Amino acid sequence: MLLVLGRRVSLSFVKRVIPQYPVLLSNPILQDLRTIKFRVIHSSTVFASATRQNTDTMPERRPFVRLPTDVYPVNYGLCLKPDLIDFTFEGKLEAIVKVNLATNQIVMNCADIDIITASFVPEGGEGEEINATGFNYQNEDEKVTLSFPSALQKGSGTLKIDFVGELNDKMKGFYRSKYATPAGEIRYAAVTQFEATDARRAFPCWDEPAIKATFDISLIVPKDRVALSNMNVIDRKPHPEDDSLLEVKFATTPIMSTYLVAFVIGEYDFVEGQSSDGVTVRVYTPTGKAEQGKFALEVAVKTLPFYNDYFNVPYPLPKIDLIAIADFAAGAMENWGLVTYRETALLIDPKNSCSSSRQWVALVVGHELAHQWFGNLVTMEWWTHLWLNEGFASWIEYLCVDHCFPDYDIWTQFVSADYTRALDLDALDNSHPIEVNVGHPSEVDEIFDAISYSKGASVIRMLHNYIGDKDFRKGMHSYLLKFQHRNAATEDLWDCLEQASGKPIALVMSSWTKQMGFPIIVVDQEQQGDDRILKISQKKFCASGPHNGEDCPNWMVPISICTGEDPGCTKLKVLLDSPETTITINNISPDQWVKINPGTVGFYRIQYSSAMLEGLLPGIRDLTLLPVDRLGLQNDLFSLSRAGMISTVEVLKLMEAFVNEPNYTVWSDLSCNLGVLSSLLSHTDFHEEIQEFIRDLFTPIGLKLGWECKQGEGEPPGAGGHLDALLRGLVLGKLGKAGHKPTLEEARRRFKDHVEGKQILSADLRSPVYLTVLKHGDSATLDTMLKLHKQADMQEEKNRIERVLGAISAPDLIQKVLTFALSEDVRPQDTVSVIGGVAGSSKHGRKAAWKFVKDNWEELHNRYQGGFLISRLIKLSVDGFAIDKMAAEVKSFFESHQAPAAERTVQQCCENILLNAAWLKRDADDIHQYLLKRKAPGLNNPAPPPPFFQRGPPCIIAASAPPFSVHRWTESEHTQSRLNFSKRKNTNDDDVNKQAKNLTKR
Ligand SMILES: [Zn+2]
Repeated sequence: MLLVLGRRVSLSFVKRVIPQYPVLLSNPILQDLRTIKFRVIHSSTVFASATRQNTDTMPERRPFVRLPTDVYPVNYGLCLKPDLIDFTFEGKLEAIVKVNLATNQIVMNCADIDIITASFVPEGGEGEEINATGFNYQNEDEKVTLSFPSALQKGSGTLKIDFVGELNDKMKGFYRSKYATPAGEIRYAAVTQFEATDARRAFPCWDEPAIKATFDISLIVPKDRVALSNMNVIDRKPHPEDDSLLEVKFATTPIMSTYLVAFVIGEYDFVEGQSSDGVTVRVYTPTGKAEQGKFALEVAVKTLPFYNDYFNVPYPLPKIDLIAIADFAAGAMENWGLVTYRETALLIDPKNSCSSSRQWVALVVGHELAHQWFGNLVTMEWWTHLWLNEGFASWIEYLCVDHCFPDYDIWTQFVSADYTRALDLDALDNSHPIEVNVGHPSEVDEIFDAISYSKGASVIRMLHNYIGDKDFRKGMHSYLLKFQHRNAATEDLWDCLEQASGKPIALVMSSWTKQMGFPIIVVDQEQQGDDRILKISQKKFCASGPHNGEDCPNWMVPISICTGEDPGCTKLKVLLDSPETTITINNISPDQWVKINPGTVGFYRIQYSSAMLEGLLPGIRDLTLLPVDRLGLQNDLFSLSRAGMISTVEVLKLMEAFVNEPNYTVWSDLSCNLGVLSSLLSHTDFHEEIQEFIRDLFTPIGLKLGWECKQGEGEPPGAGGHLDALLRGLVLGKLGKAGHKPTLEEARRRFKDHVEGKQILSADLRSPVYLTVLKHGDSATLDTMLKLHKQADMQEEKNRIERVLGAISAPDLIQKVLTFALSEDVRPQDTVSVIGGVAGSSKHGRKAAWKFVKDNWEELHNRYQGGFLISRLIKLSVDGFAIDKMAAEVKSFFESHQAPAAERTVQQCCENILLNAAWLKRDADDIHQYLLKRKAPGLNNPAPPPPFFQRGPPCIIAASAPPFSVHRWTESEHTQSRLNFSKRKNTNDDDVNKQAKNLTKR
């Protein structure tokens, strides 16, 4: 399954004490950069209690036992007859089962289903039908126990169950999905979403991934509807009792897990193609929109042979369908042979889809098709190993897109989208190990998070780099062959990779998957003749600063090293398996820089000594460092500042060195971090100053890109300009939102022409223009935008508008947006992003969104029934607060309003709020002074500043006193700067762009 996860909303703070001393490097590059201050972090009762409180409230394990195995299924004969008017369905199950141990009970999973009759017929014993005499539903455990008057004897038999259920509106199990016909009539399709534990809502079954069986599925449907399932149709005939109905029979599936079963009944068109290895591929779209399936079809037709070749195992089914479902909670679901998608993750309109949507569709198709092997053919033994499924698919989707669209530079984007997101979440005390024991369904729902997906993908990327592609593929091939049509655990993959590579994979990887968190690698160097001696050590990195306790965990860290001589080439590889080590690089001149983790592949943060960082910084401005390494350096330093290990001011100074940056992903990451900071500073009265900083930073690149697309930009694959189109949208949106006048005026002009139909905005410019005019707009702007929303035919356009509506500033209009979020005009899965957009847009929006969530909790909770959308809603609504008491308020609210699948999310949010509050207290004044000072050079500029990055001790937490003094502002300087600061009204803000990105990206 692929989720629509948020990214980078976590912030942080400080807990331990470091002496304040200047570090880092002088530099000719960053004229005004001075001293990175390593701070003394005074232990604080607030922080200490925050940490304690978090451990005290770890989610409690719910009682849970897996199904007994004395009776298990071999084949499910399943016939379902949905009623698309009354939203009910009738079902008939005839399952061939094996009785291992004589018993008079059968325990199965069953939820929200009423069993009418049940009986058992022993093999060869027709006429000996034994009727069940009791159905004991254990609702809490989602099980039913069928009791029989006499023991079922060891051997085979057929279990027959007639049942009825509801086509629910909760986007799980067998549910109804609303759509409008081209004539505007509202109708419903019947569709499924079973992962993780919802097949039991469609039919009584053994709903555990390791209990595999084959399926013979029949559907009785209105004759004018399309009926699809995992396999191809083998028979289609009129229903004997009702000639308005058809009975559609599908071929027997391979042996498979219940969560991968799927059926869809509705009205769809399709486009069809064939992969070079002979598999029929269809993309199903809403009626009249078959053209919009072409892009996904092209991707799928290229992707299947890519995976066939990569795994060296053929795709085992004769067909694969990809279908766009109107109401869909996740991003997509890999049902074997019938992959379901949100409309926005599958449909591309050449005129109205933007470049990021194309990229998104390519990634999602790549993700789901990879699961056809990794997940469907070989399945995790239990949900504890879910990460392996999702981490692997989230990694290989990039490999596949890199193959299909080399111009996307997709691996750099991986670092910004997945790697840094995982580092941020995993630095929290309330993170969890990748491998986590889960039992009860609510606990299973909870692990569909960025740790399973993004950290999983990041450690697999690190592993792939450690092993090398050749051995990795060899190991993967033997794993798929050995476990095909069966189940496997994490260790089984390690065994295969270990055999293929001869490296200690299990040992290395268990340190990453079985313990939570990751290390910060602290590095210092010394030149000895022609040799460079590196001192390297590791400590656990926490969002509140490095772990200082005695029980500090260790990781087996694959470390690569490159030098200035050849920044793209790894010079040395070592495996750090102890708290510290020393490495010698031979034949290196003293003026060469040394960089750890080239490619930003290792899953850790780095803290360089001042001298080493000084050497690396010129590479940012002259672009000799690779983009992915420029991004990684900036992101590490930002994270260290959030953790209180350096001043945030120093990161602002560093950001100014990116003024010549040409790379989209580097800008995107920087923009995201600035969004986090802007959100934090919306709690202060100098929010306008950070907007000015953003305007200054983004103006040169904005001027360079301009408004007009160059030829070929944003065109379909291969035409080039994809990244320029993404960068233009990012930069214009950032400038417009920050109130850059020329951008605002141009956006308003273009918006007017667009609305009047004079000049339709290109798809890539719509988000930044909508965002800009709304941010600085009034009620008429909002009304126009809501009208555009109503008129929009494509879901992509509707979503685009929904995500930016929250940017509107006036309180009464914010309220109008929130009311709109729950209206019929917004699809249930998209309500979350409208509310999230409001919360992420401004200080007022944040308060209003949280109040709205509290006031409408019952409806929202009921709507999402505890699935992962509820976690996402909570995170988006409260994560941006930066006042201690809000953590207490959030905690208290969820104590009285239970959301079992979101318990960990609530704890993470409370931790983040406390981290934000501490960050703000710690750094707000310094940031304010810096922002004032850069506005009025000469007036308030205290002279002479110490050089930016002083040579000094390494940037580690050392007990020694600083070797020289740090300039601190005097009171008179503060007063002077205040006098020179004409206070402007605080404007609301956060980063709607970031929200937009969060929601588009998984
Ligand atoms: Zn997945």
